[in-house]
Amino acid sequence: MIDLRSDTLTRPTPAMRAAIAAAEVGDDVFGEDPSVRHLEEQSADLLGKEAALFVPSGTMGNQLGVRIHCGAGDEFLCEAECHILNQEQAASAQFFGVYGRPVAAEGHLLTVGHLEDKIRPDDVHYARTRMVCLENTHNRGGGRVLPFGEVEKISAWATANGLARHLDGARLFNAVVASGISAKDWAACFDTVSICFSKGLGAPVGSALVGPRDLIKQARRLRKALGGGWRQAGLLAAAASYALDNHVERLADDHANAQILADAIRQSDALKLVPALVETNIVIFEIEPRLGTAADFCKKLGVQGVGMFPFGKYRVRAVTHLDVTAEQVTQAAEILLELSE
Ligand SMILES: *Cc1c(COP(=O)(O)O)cnc(C)c1O
Repeated sequence: MIDLRSDTLTRPTPAMRAAIAAAEVGDDVFGEDPSVRHLEEQSADLLGKEAALFVPSGTMGNQLGVRIHCGAGDEFLCEAECHILNQEQAASAQFFGVYGRPVAAEGHLLTVGHLEDKIRPDDVHYARTRMVCLENTHNRGGGRVLPFGEVEKISAWATANGLARHLDGARLFNAVVASGISAKDWAACFDTVSICFSKGLGAPVGSALVGPRDLIKQARRLRKALGGGWRQAGLLAAAASYALDNHVERLADDHANAQILADAIRQSDALKLVPALVETNIVIFEIEPRLGTAADFCKKLGVQGVGMFPFGKYRVRAVTHLDVTAEQVTQAAEILLELSE
């Protein structure tokens, strides 16, 4: 199976498994796991922030991020198709009484123009607007890298208006590699950033929430209440540290492999890239209805040994990652073209 359904499908490499086996561990709820401490320091340093908290998932990182900036009756502004609003069960509403307010934007790219009239006045009718949240790269937006200049402008606007700034950086390192802009520079535009080790970086489990020491302390307390206080988590942290040390630069290979797919899709009359620009490891395309629905089409691909993910009625997502080679992606592209004839 050439499995392009997601970049979460990667399995630890032999070298990563060796790092896991060699990890020193302790009880992290006691603050005594050296591998977790190392990962948290490493993550904070990489993003130029004071502190970090290792958490089981990107969802937990994002939701802790929401809760340390917002409370019941507050709202945060975010792009309408973002993960935090659409793929996290409205967790902030479910658990914290916080409303995520969707703001629609062409190409999923928010600008200050989209946001500036959205801050609610101080009036008993309204929720309190507390935060703006961005996603980089944008998953539903086809792995687009947010334009850095626009992110800087949104950040400055938010600060001037007393809003907190959170980044869902599940694929921040894809943005770093594709843009050449450092993780520190991206992170400087935000108060808190969540990053995922279990996507393109290829670790089995885990994310981090990174930010100022006082806020990360609050997040650590809340993580425990949510059942996320974990014990000898150093086994997982060692894998994540290994990924930060060894798997960041190679994301360029995934991006190059995504271009192989994009080029094939451009050759077919029955397939259309949405968006047309492929910048990182995510390729989203629409299929002609004569090929069936996306679910039917993905089934047919599966029979031919290619995994892709239905992402809408006629929309399909493919993601390149550590566990697929250029040869395999080339083969997948050929099968895709055969099935689109
Ligand atoms: C995967 C992902 C997350 C976090 O997902 P988990 O499955 O909870 O780790 C958050 N944001 C984006 C954009 C993602 O793609």
